[in-house]
Amino acid sequence: MFARVQLLTGLDKSLTYEVPENLAEEALPGRRVIVPVIKSQQLGIIVNKFNALPENEQIGRIRRMVACLDDGPVVPEDLLKLCIWASEYYVYPLGLILRAILPERLRMKPRLYYRLEIPEALPEEVRSIFFRRGREGVASREALARAGIKSWTIRRWENRGVLSRIFLLPSTSSPKRLRRVVRILCSPDQVDDRKFHEIMLPLFSSFPGSVDYSTVREKLGNNYRYWIRKWVKKGWIKETEEEDTSVLESIYAQDVPVEGPFELTNHQKTVMEQVLDAAEKGGFSSFLLYGVTGSGKTEVYLRLCERVLARDRGVLVLVPEIALITQMEALFKSRFGNSVALWHSGLEPDVKLDQWRAARDGLKRIVLGVRSAVFTPVRNCGLIIVDEEHDSSYKQDDRFRYNARDVAIMRADILGIPILLGSATPSVQSYFDAKTGKYRLLVLPERIRSGEGGQDDTMPVIEVVDMRREKGGKILSGRLRELMIANYQKGMQTLLFLNRRGFAACALCGRCGHMVECDLCSVAMTYHAGENVLKCHYCGAIKEVPTVCPKCEKSVLVFLGIGTERVEAEVRKLLPGARIERIDRDTVENMEILVKKLNAVRRGEAQVIVGTQMLSKGHDFPGISLTGVIHADLGFGLPDFRAGEITAQQLFQVSGRPGRRKTRGHVIIQTYNPEHYIFKALSSHAYQSFCDLELKSRKILSYPPFVKMARVICTSRDRDEVYRAVHELGSFMRRIAKEGVQILGPAPAPYFRLRGLYRWHILVKSKTGREMSELLRVIAGYDALNLWRRRGVAFAIDRDPMLCL
Ligand SMILES: [Zn+2]
Ligand SMILES: [Zn+2]
Repeated sequence: MFARVQLLTGLDKSLTYEVPENLAEEALPGRRVIVPVIKSQQLGIIVNKFNALPENEQIGRIRRMVACLDDGPVVPEDLLKLCIWASEYYVYPLGLILRAILPERLRMKPRLYYRLEIPEALPEEVRSIFFRRGREGVASREALARAGIKSWTIRRWENRGVLSRIFLLPSTSSPKRLRRVVRILCSPDQVDDRKFHEIMLPLFSSFPGSVDYSTVREKLGNNYRYWIRKWVKKGWIKETEEEDTSVLESIYAQDVPVEGPFELTNHQKTVMEQVLDAAEKGGFSSFLLYGVTGSGKTEVYLRLCERVLARDRGVLVLVPEIALITQMEALFKSRFGNSVALWHSGLEPDVKLDQWRAARDGLKRIVLGVRSAVFTPVRNCGLIIVDEEHDSSYKQDDRFRYNARDVAIMRADILGIPILLGSATPSVQSYFDAKTGKYRLLVLPERIRSGEGGQDDTMPVIEVVDMRREKGGKILSGRLRELMIANYQKGMQTLLFLNRRGFAACALCGRCGHMVECDLCSVAMTYHAGENVLKCHYCGAIKEVPTVCPKCEKSVLVFLGIGTERVEAEVRKLLPGARIERIDRDTVENMEILVKKLNAVRRGEAQVIVGTQMLSKGHDFPGISLTGVIHADLGFGLPDFRAGEITAQQLFQVSGRPGRRKTRGHVIIQTYNPEHYIFKALSSHAYQSFCDLELKSRKILSYPPFVKMARVICTSRDRDEVYRAVHELGSFMRRIAKEGVQILGPAPAPYFRLRGLYRWHILVKSKTGREMSELLRVIAGYDALNLWRRRGVAFAIDRDPMLCL
């Protein structure tokens, strides 16, 4: 028997190994194995198994597999299939994808140990080596060598069956926390107790396996002790302790008020029915849930999870970033308790391993996570939910360049289950797919808690302020100042949004026009007044502020443009007594600080919040009734065809923040282009009409979704080398491109230099995905690339790019 094994490296093909007799049963696809590679032993994953060798391989050159690890496949079959698809679609090595998706502990190569099988065969002083440091009959080769035992002796003991080989990770010592739980020991039909049926069985069906003692106590009320003792005696339940990982998981959880379940609106009910109907019928189907901000999408997600779990299937829920997980975690755990596995970068390696295993084995039925969670195992998955599907955080923009939303769709397709993409501002792509019938469109057109004046009063009032008419280039317009003062006096919160941190956007010489740029990036440096330095927002480089212009050495520099720090200073002047909370990357160094700040805002401790896009996403702040967008045109400057879409999404999202409880919200949009169609759509809450106009212009300019797009990026520290390499690649691409495929460039990337690397790119447009796949595969296999790589030029393929910067 033979197996193809994929090493966790950039090697672009898998290797064939012979499976020894004793491993024949264990060697399954998705399982980790140790295999010999040249003179070393390496970790790999079995991709498939077969009985006869293909013709192009000779038996004499095939080596034998050394060992199988774990108690079963770590990558279940459907996930392995997904990784293989992703490797082909994104033209990225499978080994590196597997490496990227596995928890750190599973990609570490375990060490060789020996287990003592026949203790009495060895003298006491040797035997004791196997019982050191709490190990039960296990010793490493090194430990044996230190005791003077030669390797031929070890081999002799092995042959006699005294020792056997095992592979273990070097021990990781993390103290285990325990929590008190109640386990169920009986099946429902064995129980003839009404109270047990009413209270305990529903608990066990939402928390399979075990329920927290405290939850049981709460549900049973005052006489909990009596009931528990009685049922333990009958042998229906058991009180016990199990390892508690929730403390480690939840360090970032926000204190969100946990409400509900609410009575569903008719719109919500219709959405539920459609999705459940598809789940019932089976097979792949995709839904776009377009629900305005505050329309109760989350409640729909929670109910769907409930129903899918009741059918004994799992759910995968993706959210775009960790800050939103901290908000969702409380909600999901209040409904599903221990059945929720979390997946984000803030988890300790041991916790990540636990979550992975628990999800794979079905001990946790819901996986709630960020982008990379799309590659976690979910036992018997019955539904995938992608929240805020338009968000660019789903796109990974280095190394393995994938879009988790698109991968999720493929995953649902492989599994033959429904997928629900939700957003208040769907991507133009998904909107198009829904319009053309590829997705089914579901709509939640109104907010759930309507104001007293009827349905139309629930969406915030949006006012567009023409900044060209404001005198003296003010940061806060007269109208915004007026409303901020009134809001402050009423004790309500104001949110000011500006997608640029720092004090001034750039430092410019008033005489020669020289702009201070980063030495490593072709990006203007931003002035930060607090530290009195210039910072590069790409690489983080810091420069002192020069006293005179570095170029002409005659004039003093002036600072132009505004950032959040400047806005904060303005608010301080306007409302001297107010507490201001600034939330941007300068004030938020890590998740803990962010969560602390968000909690403070939610408790109403700050009266004015100044923030960047960190605040534009899904957060629900009940006390905010006024939002000011300081410089709404900022996003238009992005040299990319998606600039309008991204700006519109941010503005619609930010405008959805205020007034989500009883009061009606108010939004002030400050702009120098009030005639732009984005603002027209915005003030009438007509996101769809924005999408329709955007689609029209994309069709004329032939951009996605009307064509498929990809981008090849070449970078090098050497300006001339990258120029020669990209032009050689460009002419090669033109030679091989078939009709219907368009090659644009090579051209210098908009950010021509980043972190000291010179950057060029070539864009590809094609009519179909198949044409694109063919072309990208040929490019990846182009021999000349390897020559250039040796000379320090790097190439990356970015399929379906989000931004081409
Ligand atoms: Zn100058
Ligand atoms: Zn820089």
